[in-house]
Amino acid sequence: MRRFRVWKTLLGLRRAVIEEVELEEGGVLVVSVRPKARERDRCPHCRRRCPGYDWGEGRRRWRALDLGTSFCFLEAEAPRVRCRQHGVVVAAVPWARHDSNFTRSFEDQVCWLAVNTSKTAVAELMRIAWRTVGWICERVTAEQEAKRDLLAGLTRLGIDEISVRKGQRYLTLVVDHDSGRLVWAHPGRDRATVEKFLDLLGEERCERITLVSCDMADWITGPIGERCPNAEVCYDPFHLVKLASDALDEVRREVWNDARRAGQTVLAKELKGARFALWKNPDRLTERQKLKLAQIQQTNKPLFRAYLLCQQLRMIYRVGCEHALALLDAWLAWARRCRLHPFVKLAKTITKQRAGIEAALHHGLSNAPVEQVNTQIRLITRRGFGYHPPWAVIALAMLSLGGLCPPLPGR
Ligand SMILES: [Zn+2]
Repeated sequence: MRRFRVWKTLLGLRRAVIEEVELEEGGVLVVSVRPKARERDRCPHCRRRCPGYDWGEGRRRWRALDLGTSFCFLEAEAPRVRCRQHGVVVAAVPWARHDSNFTRSFEDQVCWLAVNTSKTAVAELMRIAWRTVGWICERVTAEQEAKRDLLAGLTRLGIDEISVRKGQRYLTLVVDHDSGRLVWAHPGRDRATVEKFLDLLGEERCERITLVSCDMADWITGPIGERCPNAEVCYDPFHLVKLASDALDEVRREVWNDARRAGQTVLAKELKGARFALWKNPDRLTERQKLKLAQIQQTNKPLFRAYLLCQQLRMIYRVGCEHALALLDAWLAWARRCRLHPFVKLAKTITKQRAGIEAALHHGLSNAPVEQVNTQIRLITRRGFGYHPPWAVIALAMLSLGGLCPPLPGR
């Protein structure tokens, strides 16, 4: 066995015995192996030792990390065992995950690359299809999730949704506010999805949740209110500011349409160009944009009023909590009588949801960690998982944002 010691080290093989090393035609390296006696006849699910059943489908191969420029495969018998709990299954092998045609090191490296490099880099370097990368990520994520309890010790949550594939598919995300980690992601954005998460959390841990930040969506707040008795719901400032921006945009569009219909083409054109000036933070405006705003102030009073309303609402989140509440009251009074329909409507919404907004101000909580996870998932989907079923996106998200990515093999 001594003659294989170098091979064993090179392959990073543990708990296995090398029987033969052969170079096949085309420079493919095939290493015949068998598990050490102690590792034989174990169930892949519970690791329990089981009586043998049959020889299964005979010898099979697992793709290992390339050695230099050569493909490398491990080859071994794949007998089946009969587990008391899991029935007849192919026996576990120490070098690979159950149901995989790749070795553990190979899969770990694929995951690390999928998290840290581009789609083309991982597929070309590892000489596998992109689809296969998705499957590997799913398998490794499932294994890591089974090993760790990501929901342990959760007290403050952020819940949000993200659309993958241009609004056709949605994922619900749950982020731990304290660590900023993604702890759960699931396809769908409805009550049933949130219920599924709460089922997983269990009654006892639901009671320990003290804070949930989210947007003003009934499908989130409904189940949380019913099943997390100690949780305070906070409406996330980002969403509130976004609602104000949407209202501003609605006013801008109305004014623009009116101008166009009245044949004021110059004004219409100006308004169309004003979008960025209206949206930006005042202290980040360029000279040209400042000029544009000044023009609007002179020629278009309603639009400028909408702009000020929007900026004022943003201010609420920049001052301390005591001032913020007074400012919010003043804002509501102003918005109610501003004669701009979208803002009157927004004032109504805010009045109705005031408790959640105040809670967010009081706790100084923002959905920033959730937004960050959201942005990063968007990047992940853009990197090429968009063509995949959502499970591949979720797996990659959990690997990179849930901290589940295994280290590079041998490190
Ligand atoms: Zn078993």
